[in-house]
Amino acid sequence: MLNNFTLAINSISLSETKQAGISLTMVRADSIHPLASGNKLYKLQPNIDYIKQHAYQQVLSFGGAFSNHIYALALYSQSLGLQSIGIIRGEPEYARNTTLSVAARSGMKLVFVDRATYRLRHNKDYLQALQQEYPQAFIIPEGGSNHLALQGCSTLMRQINKSYQKKQAKIPDVITTACGTGTTFAGLVTGAKKDQSVRGYLILKDKSVHTHVNELLKNTLDDSLHSIEAADFGGYAKFNAELLDFILNFLAQTNILLDPIYTSKMCRQLVQDIRSGKFKKNTHIALLHTGGLQAWHGMKDKVIQLRGDEAWDKIITKL
Ligand SMILES: *Cc1c(COP(=O)(O)O)cnc(C)c1O
Repeated sequence: MLNNFTLAINSISLSETKQAGISLTMVRADSIHPLASGNKLYKLQPNIDYIKQHAYQQVLSFGGAFSNHIYALALYSQSLGLQSIGIIRGEPEYARNTTLSVAARSGMKLVFVDRATYRLRHNKDYLQALQQEYPQAFIIPEGGSNHLALQGCSTLMRQINKSYQKKQAKIPDVITTACGTGTTFAGLVTGAKKDQSVRGYLILKDKSVHTHVNELLKNTLDDSLHSIEAADFGGYAKFNAELLDFILNFLAQTNILLDPIYTSKMCRQLVQDIRSGKFKKNTHIALLHTGGLQAWHGMKDKVIQLRGDEAWDKIITKL
């Protein structure tokens, strides 16, 4: 499905960074599917190819109750007639939320586990026991973050460059992505051209991302060219009025809705980086919109509580 895909690209202009002489474009991996994260689909594609080649009947993975990966996996598996199983952290009550009810409606079997069990998701014995329980299933780690996913994100980077070339536009000097596990970042690094720099924005406090990236790249990361910056603004899924105002302001200026967990924090930190002079004049920076818009469905009460119904209306009309 994603082989030879042309990604939409938008020029964006923000009043906050006008003075800096930087050229900004946004790569719309969010537009591949209305709600599933674009980067998750790229991460899944080589996994799906592998599953088909090896004739697995099922696919099993892990996630929290609002997981973009679980959501994308459920929808993608359904479209292929593959049975999906989601090992979900938390209580069965969560099955009523939008993320998980869409997943269940797409045919995903939801298995709720307590936090202690969920912590075992990378443990060899636990994975072996799961494999015995689901002998037909191919197991994908949380966030879809394996070596196959790395290939998918490498493809994504090459398609990004091709998409600029098709528009006869200059390919970006810098490409930015939000980082959770860092797999997308690592894949972009492997797919980038020689002088292109990839800049990741880490939206959680977990430092193990560096270990994971080094593992995926076999310690070949050139850190004079590529970097991972902190952009957690208080931690994973921490959402407040300041971030919401940033998102609404970005929407008003660009007509592009960011997601509440990943791309919003990346953009917010990037704006600060531009303002503080981290980039040379005339640098062309491409911001990767990885998607994740489905997460807004879990934020309705919070948005209304912070900035009222009017703010929520602006968001919901873009979903
Ligand atoms: C999962 C996700 C990311 C992070 O991807 P990693 O490969 O885990 O670093 C970024 N943006 C969105 C919207 C996501 O859903």
